[in-house]
Amino acid sequence: MGVFSYWIDTARALRTTLRNAFRPPTTVEFPAVIRPRAERYRASFALVDDENGECACVACQACEKICPSQVIKMKSGGKRESPVTGKKRAYADEFVLDLSACMQCELCVQVCNNDAIVMIREPEEPAYTRADLVFDMAHLRDNAHTKTATWANGTRLQEMQEGKKVPKAKPEPKPEPKPEPKPEPKAEPKPPTEGGTP
Ligand code: SF4
Ligand code: SF4
Repeated sequence: MGVFSYWIDTARALRTTLRNAFRPPTTVEFPAVIRPRAERYRASFALVDDENGECACVACQACEKICPSQVIKMKSGGKRESPVTGKKRAYADEFVLDLSACMQCELCVQVCNNDAIVMIREPEEPAYTRADLVFDMAHLRDNAHTKTATWANGTRLQEMQEGKKVPKAKPEPKPEPKPEPKPEPKAEPKPPTEGGTP
């Protein structure tokens, strides 16, 4: 009985192996190939500019206070004259967001009455340390200029809560396939010197 069940199990295992060996692969070679992400996929954050090209954040601290993970920290610069409009407005001098402990609840986006903080669809570069996932104002502003924001901002999320019609999410731009890295040319072996040592 023991030997018989051994062969039965072996045949079953072989059948599973053979069945899977000829199936098309279900994995892709990331990052050369990126699967289409869900319509409302959100990955990281950006601080957007206002209509005058200045950071729209006025350091009201609403996002900092509502964040359940307490990962947003900022320093208000108080009110000063805008170099663009000449009008007085409030500024944030520092804005730090620790993505490593964020739970992607989007509450910070929802409470922002200036639509200054939004989420973006592209994930950040993978990091080796938690410190690499702590983003300062420069990084968050750069994300606004280089990455695709999700459909949501404070105004739209607040309208959704009030039962107003929500716009459809924009389709994600197709990622460019990355070129394959060229193999390094192999170094020629050095001829031995007269003393016999290489
Ligand atoms: S991002 Fe919005 S909610 Fe947060 S401090 Fe700036 S203006 Fe206020
Ligand atoms: S998504 Fe939620 S946890 Fe993440 S920073 Fe915003 S409020 Fe905090």
